[in-house]
Amino acid sequence: MANKIPVGILGATGAVGQRFVQLLEHHPWFETTELAASDRSAGKAYQDATNWRQYTPIPDSLQTQVVKPCEPNLDCKIVFSGLDSSVAGEVEEAFAQAGYIVLSNSKNHRMDEDVPLLVPEINPEHLGLLKTQRQRRNWAGAIVTNPNCSTIGLVMALAPLHRAFGVKRVIVSTMQALSGAGYPGLSAIDMLGNVIPYIGGEEDKVETEPLKIMGAWQHDAIQFADCKISAHTNRVFVEDGHLETVSLELEKKATPEEVADVLANFSALPQELKLPTAPIPPIIVTAERDRPQPRFDRDAGKGMSAVVGRIRPCPVFDIRLVVLSHNTIRGAAGAAILNAEIMKAQGYLD
Ligand code: NAP
Repeated sequence: MANKIPVGILGATGAVGQRFVQLLEHHPWFETTELAASDRSAGKAYQDATNWRQYTPIPDSLQTQVVKPCEPNLDCKIVFSGLDSSVAGEVEEAFAQAGYIVLSNSKNHRMDEDVPLLVPEINPEHLGLLKTQRQRRNWAGAIVTNPNCSTIGLVMALAPLHRAFGVKRVIVSTMQALSGAGYPGLSAIDMLGNVIPYIGGEEDKVETEPLKIMGAWQHDAIQFADCKISAHTNRVFVEDGHLETVSLELEKKATPEEVADVLANFSALPQELKLPTAPIPPIIVTAERDRPQPRFDRDAGKGMSAVVGRIRPCPVFDIRLVVLSHNTIRGAAGAAILNAEIMKAQGYLD
């Protein structure tokens, strides 16, 4: 594309905001032209406002760019939001009202009935909600959200199995990386040699978001999937990558081999459209007995693939498996970028 589409990043100084900056640096369609954050950062050069924690340098073109306040007067039509949830709700609404397309990572609007909770491989048809959203809220712009960083790995594994066999009940335990709590996040003293078996609000998100994402698109609305999920969420001493152990009960019984086959052969619209951020394959099935592991597998598909392993029978339910996904890429910035790509491919950004 000769002329890239200018985009802004709200919350550009945070953990997710930095990932947006990094992932958009060489994007073929989008170019970061605006950086915005809180009053603490506004007016400063980006390199002074942010405590850069990525393993690649700040892109040259953005190092001295001045960070702006999160006000809807940015010179772009599309904004990626990595805003803290304490402010994301109102700020994102103000941008949508002012005509911006907002790709949000925050929890605030995910479960609103007129807001798509989008995973392009699973529910691209849910973008149909934007018509209702604009009519109901009288917005020129729109809000599209991506799931919580633990929901994404789980739902990437569940959705193809739900389609093939029907998933009735799920028990999931998460082992969530430190970067999921933002920067600086939890203190080293609290985390060293330790596991914290509580992440505020997280279990509710993991139990409800997949039901919306796997919901059927009927009569211009979403009918939530009929499936029960019980979640235990834990914070572990890992830098990046959320690991989840999952037991599931199926409506139509299936062997571990049949489950592996469905997951390994899963492919969807983003792959068909060859969207720049779409991983091929979206789900990697590993046969090694002790994988996936965060350190070795989180960057699979440039951090966009879900890695599933240890698929085996469950003596209580039907099947057990382990799934890993990168929390700040597939679970945050990469997901929102893929959402923008499918919107572009389907004419929602014209
Ligand atoms: P973070 O590192 O704490 O960054 C928060 C960002 O919000 C910073 O840029 C901060 O700007 C900005 N901000 C805070 N208060 C503000 C205000 N009053 N006005 C304008 N901007 C303000 O958090 P994070 O981990 O990147 O998470 C960002 C969002 O993504 C959260 O809603 C989180 O739940 C969600 N999320 C995170 C992950 C993950 O793995 N980390 C995954 C999925 C979703 P200053 O630097 O100027 O304070």
